[in-house]
Amino acid sequence: MNKTDVLGGNHANTHLALAVGGAQRYVQIADPGYKEATTFFYETLRDAHSYSTGGSNFREYWQAAHEQGTSILDVMKVKPDSFAGHDNEESCTTYNFLKIIRHLFEWSPSPALLEMYSYALTNGVMGIQRGTQPGVMLYLLPLGTGVTKGNSTRGWGTPFTDFWCCYGTGIESFSKLADSIFWMELKANSALIIARYVPSKLDAAATRGGWVVHVTTGAGGASLATSGKATITVDAPPAMGGEQTMKLLIPSWSASPTVEVNGVAVAAAVKPGSFHSISRTWKRGDTIELTLPAVLTLSKVRA
Ligand SMILES: [Zn+2]
Repeated sequence: MNKTDVLGGNHANTHLALAVGGAQRYVQIADPGYKEATTFFYETLRDAHSYSTGGSNFREYWQAAHEQGTSILDVMKVKPDSFAGHDNEESCTTYNFLKIIRHLFEWSPSPALLEMYSYALTNGVMGIQRGTQPGVMLYLLPLGTGVTKGNSTRGWGTPFTDFWCCYGTGIESFSKLADSIFWMELKANSALIIARYVPSKLDAAATRGGWVVHVTTGAGGASLATSGKATITVDAPPAMGGEQTMKLLIPSWSASPTVEVNGVAVAAAVKPGSFHSISRTWKRGDTIELTLPAVLTLSKVRA
C-alpha cells in the first residue's frame, strides 16, 4: 500500500463517506487491505488535518497537512470586525468521522480512540444544536479567537427553510447520543468497557447473560464536566458468575483521578489516558465512584 497523505485540497465529506465504505468492505468480506487503509486514513486525518476539537476541514475541504490554523488566522485578517466566514468543520464530516472511529475501536479497542470519539461528539455534534430551539442547527462550526457559533457564512439554520446535508446527519446524530457509552468484549469473558460518563443504563441481561448497570453523574443531575463525579451501580452482574472485568476509561484530561469500589479506593494506580480495569466477583448493588477533575491541557500539532 502506498501510504501517502493526499488529503489536502480534497472535499472532506466525499472522501469520509468513501472511507466509511472501505471500512465496511473489511467488515463484510474481511479484505485486510481495507482495514489497513482505514487505519492509515484515520491516523493521517487525526495527525495532519484535524483541529483539537476532533473536527477537520475548512469550507468543506481539507487544507494542506498541518495548515489547519492558517485558515483561521487568514479569515480574521480579512474580516477582523465581523469574523464572518469561519467555515470550519462541516457538521456531517463529524458524523462520518464517528463511524470510522467506531469501526477502528471494534477492531482494536484503545482509550485514545474513545477520547477522540468524545471530542468529536461533544464539539461537532452536541455543539451544533442551538440551546433548546428545535431545528436550529449548524452547517459549519466556526473556530477562532472571539468567534461565536453564528460567525460562519451560513450561520445558524432555521427550523423550516434550511435543509443542508448537515441537517440530515445532524438529526440522525442526535438520535444516537446513547451510542458508544458502553462496549462489551465478545471474547471468552464479557468485559464491560464504559466509555462515556453520562446518565444512562445498560441492560444486556438478554445478551449472553450480560451486565445490567446504570451511570449517574454529580449531585442533583450535574454533568461530569460540572461535578467531576460519576457513579456506576451494578444492578445485575453477568449471569456466568465468577470473576469478571469492568474497564473504565480514565480521560487524559483528568488530573489526579480516583476510583473507589464500594467506598474503598482501588489499590492500583489510576492513570489518565488509560483503561482502569477492575476484576472481581460482582454483586448486585456494587458501586464504583469516579472522581475525574478536569484540567486545562494544550493540544499540540503532531509531527
Ligand atoms: Zn454537510
